[in-house]
Amino acid sequence: MTDRYAVFGHPIHHSKSPFIHSAFAQQTGQDLTYTAIDAPAETFTTAVRAFFAEGGKGANVTVPHKEAALALADDATPRAQEAGAANTLLFTADGAIYADNTDGVGLIRDLTNRWGLSLEGKRILLLGAGGAAKGILAPLIAARPRAITVANRTAARAEALTTAFAPLAVRFDVTLTTLPWAQLVHREATPPFDLVLNATSASLAGSTPPLSRALWAPDAVAYDLMYGASPTPFLIAAQQQGAARAIDGLGMLVEQAAESFWLWRSVRPETEPVYRALRAQLAASAAR
Ligand code: NAP
Repeated sequence: MTDRYAVFGHPIHHSKSPFIHSAFAQQTGQDLTYTAIDAPAETFTTAVRAFFAEGGKGANVTVPHKEAALALADDATPRAQEAGAANTLLFTADGAIYADNTDGVGLIRDLTNRWGLSLEGKRILLLGAGGAAKGILAPLIAARPRAITVANRTAARAEALTTAFAPLAVRFDVTLTTLPWAQLVHREATPPFDLVLNATSASLAGSTPPLSRALWAPDAVAYDLMYGASPTPFLIAAQQQGAARAIDGLGMLVEQAAESFWLWRSVRPETEPVYRALRAQLAASAAR
């Protein structure tokens, strides 16, 4: 029998996940279907439970339900618990819902395997303190950079994030601090950053966090978790200010999906062909 999977979100019609998982299934010979289900907050939990009651085997969860996904699970991986959010659900044979968060590992694999970057000993600026920032902070710390500085429009959320992850940072000998949002534009106090990660959703609104030339080290990489047919406002601004490389989050999207696929099917798909196909689709849509 064909196994059923789905992604839940709101809105969800632009999701690339059905394409990605169908491509993985075809590539690895797995018999499954994967659909997108639009569920507003009021019906999310009921919709997930109904999907599993009707035989669904697993699901991805995206904005705005990642925290609710963790809350409805019976058990969760340590990385989902650390993130306080889940993007992957697995319906186990004994009827329980198990939650995972594959966003962080997806980002690290994209940075290191696809783009050949090493994070060890580097200075990282993390912009944002929402669900995505929370999901990637633990694996970023575990990659042993020298320092991670968190800046967020709402300062209290950045403070809360660094407080929550302080014990982990101590364990990995990483200096974890915050920086006031307003100081991003006139920053000269500490050494510049090797990697600036935009984990805000500012690009969705066509805007960019405030940035200054002084933020960028000579070989600095700008990485926007968001992706699109053309460079995001953050990546454009970063390059204008001297970032050596500008990378969007399409690779992270494919890598986090591959990790979900692995959890569900115990098979690791090859991500590069799917990444290339998606990049070509985006380029074609930009040319139209
Ligand atoms: P979220 O929980 O809603 O958090 C949004 C974050 O963006 C908060 O830090 C918020 O700051 C900040 N923000 C929103 N609008 C802003 C603006 N105009 N200027 C400055 N900061 C702004 O969202 P999320 O789940 O963390 O997602 C963040 C981004 O990551 C989204 O673009 C999402 O698509 C992307 N993402 C990509 C992947 C991938 O696989 N590539 C995976 C996960 C997420 P405040 O706290 O001040 O509101």
